[in-house]
Amino acid sequence: MSLQDTKKHENVVGAGSPRPFGNVSTNCIKGEETSPLRKSTFRPKENRGVLSMFLDLHVHTNRYSACSVLLPLEMVETAKMLKLDGLVITEHGILWDKEEIEDLKTRAKAGNLVVLRGQEIRTRCDDRLEGDVLVFGVEQSLGDELSAQELLEKVHSQGGVAIAAHPYRAFLGLRDNIYKLDLDGIEVFNGNTAPEEMQLADNACKILQLPGTGGSDAHSSQSLGNYLTFFSAWIKSEADLVSAIKQKQCRPAHFEEMRK
Ligand SMILES: [Zn+2]
Ligand SMILES: [Zn+2]
Repeated sequence: MSLQDTKKHENVVGAGSPRPFGNVSTNCIKGEETSPLRKSTFRPKENRGVLSMFLDLHVHTNRYSACSVLLPLEMVETAKMLKLDGLVITEHGILWDKEEIEDLKTRAKAGNLVVLRGQEIRTRCDDRLEGDVLVFGVEQSLGDELSAQELLEKVHSQGGVAIAAHPYRAFLGLRDNIYKLDLDGIEVFNGNTAPEEMQLADNACKILQLPGTGGSDAHSSQSLGNYLTFFSAWIKSEADLVSAIKQKQCRPAHFEEMRK
């Protein structure tokens, strides 16, 4: 899959989203969703082999991301329909509670879907926005007040991993700061980022010899799964996810690759 072949996907946000729950983050950027319609002609999951998986590592629901119109149950049902192997919920600054996510995990299990928790942290330094970072393997919500450096220190002290989210997107990317920070990976494919911006992320990934990831950055069901991360490992838990990233057992992938 060439980066040049990828389309720009932007997310529908804001207006009219049902928000039945409290503590919703407002760290969202407006855009417009243009995802292609995907048909359900997939090869069965079991034919891919038990030691590899395709996960969407970047998903927002309306439970805690005010910009998302994606209902948590709708997310699970759509992912099952698309035959994704798994996904990670990455709300803005908020980690889902362990008990709270159990119901979703149970429903997902029926479709062999793995649902895990992470978060997307907006970093800032001296009131200036630095860029978004995906965090996995930390057991507390990290908010949106930390600098990128503070965030990385905190994440690593708790055994987690930090991935630069859409680093070269026109807004909210860490840009060339990724060359200075002690990151664990770089999000190369992002559903809300232009191909040329993803190419810059891919270049950095190779130069820094960091693992690359992919995620839809979905804010609605239409874009869920359009970009994925391929793991040459079996990911059943957040600990598995952290370990696989640390061991560089992943790379960015496109939805069409999963279908092959
Ligand atoms: Zn972001
Ligand atoms: Zn996001």
